[in-house]
Amino acid sequence: MLIELKKLFENEGTSLPLCLQVDLSDVQQRGEPLFVTPVSVEGEIRNRLGIVTLQAEARFTYRAPCDRCAEPVERAFTLPVAHGLVAELNNEDNDDFLVVENMKLDVDELIRSDVLLSLPTKFLCREDCKGLCSKCGANLNLGTCECAKEVDPRLSALLELMDQ
Ligand SMILES: [Zn+2]
Ligand SMILES: [Zn+2]
Repeated sequence: MLIELKKLFENEGTSLPLCLQVDLSDVQQRGEPLFVTPVSVEGEIRNRLGIVTLQAEARFTYRAPCDRCAEPVERAFTLPVAHGLVAELNNEDNDDFLVVENMKLDVDELIRSDVLLSLPTKFLCREDCKGLCSKCGANLNLGTCECAKEVDPRLSALLELMDQ
């Protein structure tokens, strides 16, 4: 959605409520849609003393297989989104500000990139996920598999010590 910001840029003290849903259903993780629901965004864009800021919260739930054990991981997130908006950059190039071309903000694109950047680099069902046995593929979170039992008990005790 393109939001026309000309009026807001020109009128100090005004604000524009933001309430929208951003569809990220095309984003996939291992061939499956990553987001369970559209991202819901609530906040506002305001002009305070000539400084235009966007402040909002993006809520979303994603689902992805755990990178170690492949069990589905579902997490709900609330991401604070804050940007300073300018119609054009002054000489003092400042990365903190987002340049709004033609005073029209593509808010979907902005939310999309903020949400994607906020995602973890690894999807884990839990920090200490034990993953799958490399021999038989058993989920080691559910218990030890037969492969572990074949190991000499003295050696396995040693391995456990090394694991800690
Ligand atoms: Zn896992
Ligand atoms: Zn095994």
